[in-house]
Amino acid sequence: MNKMVLVAGGAGYIGSHTTVELINAGYDVVVVDNFSNSDASSLEGIRKITGVEPKFIEADCADKEAMRKVFEAYDFQSVIHFAAYKAVGESVAEPLKYYHNNLVSFVNILELMAEYGRSNVLFSSSATVYGDAEELPVTERTERKPATSPYGNTKQMSEDILRDTVRANSAMHGIALRYFNPIGAHPSALIGELPRGVPNNLVPYITQTAAGVRECLSIFGDDYPTPDDSCLRDYIDIVDLARAHVVAINRMVEGRTKESYEVFNIGTGRPVSVFELVRGFENANNLKLNYRVAERRAGDVTAVWADTTLANEELGWCAERRLEDTLKAAWAWEKAVRGL
Ligand code: UDP
Repeated sequence: MNKMVLVAGGAGYIGSHTTVELINAGYDVVVVDNFSNSDASSLEGIRKITGVEPKFIEADCADKEAMRKVFEAYDFQSVIHFAAYKAVGESVAEPLKYYHNNLVSFVNILELMAEYGRSNVLFSSSATVYGDAEELPVTERTERKPATSPYGNTKQMSEDILRDTVRANSAMHGIALRYFNPIGAHPSALIGELPRGVPNNLVPYITQTAAGVRECLSIFGDDYPTPDDSCLRDYIDIVDLARAHVVAINRMVEGRTKESYEVFNIGTGRPVSVFELVRGFENANNLKLNYRVAERRAGDVTAVWADTTLANEELGWCAERRLEDTLKAAWAWEKAVRGL
């Protein structure tokens, strides 16, 4: 059995945690990253946690000839593709940057996989493909809504590119994991999220506010039709999320897929409001957060959370970590980054 995996974007937030779990599960990992939204400290963190130095090649996945060298050098059977931009607002301002990077990278990887006879592809998708869903929780059969940003569109288009590619190539298998809201950090506090500039996402904004880097958290809207009037999301611990990649890779490597292309929701199945998350962070870490209610943020949906039955039953995976522990880990990581 070929236990080598290429992790494209393996120095990033989800990529680094997944690399750790793959190594812990006995996989030989080759990381490719161009550090466009990450840095080498995560590779050092991976080494400290696992005791293993992952093979590393600095390359841009949108550079096909650079990627060809990676395929020439290593005989991995499986690829996980994380190497994509992810800032919704930036994608609206600079759509071609997103279409070029996110789609060209993926097409390059798929073309090289077909050319070099590599079979298993795991794609990082997102709950963003469901948009403002009509039924909650969303199942994998819930209709995708037209994307509201170029970023979201690249996720939908990449899912379709993967589906069509593996259906047309009987030697290939593809799985798309639709992540809900990944949060937290490795319990060692050696790897975590490293947002550049002002964070867009809730938990990094909370931890930076607690650290005094940001003055005050804005809660975007308290006039939503939800029990406490703030938005509902499904916050999934980053280590639980990373483990989902390992079981999805196992499924393909061991030939247990039921169809050439499969999709799984990766969440907890539990909606949590913005106020609950803020209170949860305060209680878990025994501190008070400076926050105020602000206007709604354009483009936010009221509520989205996962039906995780398919992942539970087919992958044998379920979220295990308690939100309290996840929020403790998020704060421990922020403190480690700031030297607090
Ligand atoms: N949010 C907030 N303040 C922030 C960032 C986010 O109130 O500074 C809210 C946002 O409106 C949404 C939730 O937190 O309801 C999660 O937002 P995030 O950007 O983390 O993820 P999204 O669900 O938008 O992908």
